[in-house]
Amino acid sequence: MSTLLLATRNAGKLAELQRLLESAVPGVQVIGLRDVDEYPEAPETGATFEENALLKAREAVRHTGLPAVADDSGLTVDALNGMPGVLSARWSGRHGDDEANTALLLGQIADVPDERRGAAFVCAAALVTPDGTERVLARQWRGSVIRGKRGANGFGYDPVFVPEGLDVTSAELTPEEKDARSHRGQAFAALVPVLAEVLRAG
Ligand code: IMP
Repeated sequence: MSTLLLATRNAGKLAELQRLLESAVPGVQVIGLRDVDEYPEAPETGATFEENALLKAREAVRHTGLPAVADDSGLTVDALNGMPGVLSARWSGRHGDDEANTALLLGQIADVPDERRGAAFVCAAALVTPDGTERVLARQWRGSVIRGKRGANGFGYDPVFVPEGLDVTSAELTPEEKDARSHRGQAFAALVPVLAEVLRAG
């Protein structure tokens, strides 16, 4: 039985990666940051999602000695030249204030017409092992930003994001429906064969 650390405190993310990994890499146990001794987490200073995911995974390996996966994500809005991007979680100035972040974004693009309200959620997932192997990849989920909030599921910008091909927001999808399509679901799924190869070799 080998152990993989997912550098997150989010139980939903843990369950998702565990579910995806189970069939591909039998015998691997995925644990989270709540299962290891607490260590000081450095601020996310990278300029890209990939850089931030790598920084978090390297830090996790350094503190625990375990192979680690980390993700970094955010919303890139076409009319804002890709912002808020890596600054998504703190766009309004306070980390994790979903209400304020969403309100600020809607205000900034209030005059942008419907045909130019394209956006994408992006997720980078990184794997780092104690022997220094590093892999990182990113996936995106395209859609558009609507003018008011709809739906009570999800978090962050979900209530204002309508994925391409749907007419509901990602906050109106069930968690399973969202995982099957989302940037994070896609990035984790793409990382699974990489994990299978690297963990088997190690
Ligand atoms: P992270 O925790 O550093 O990856 O920051 C992610 C931030 O991007 C969150 O605080 C949200 O504002 C936004 N974000 C990322 N993924 C999603 C999503 O699936 N739905 C809504 N907002 C998201």
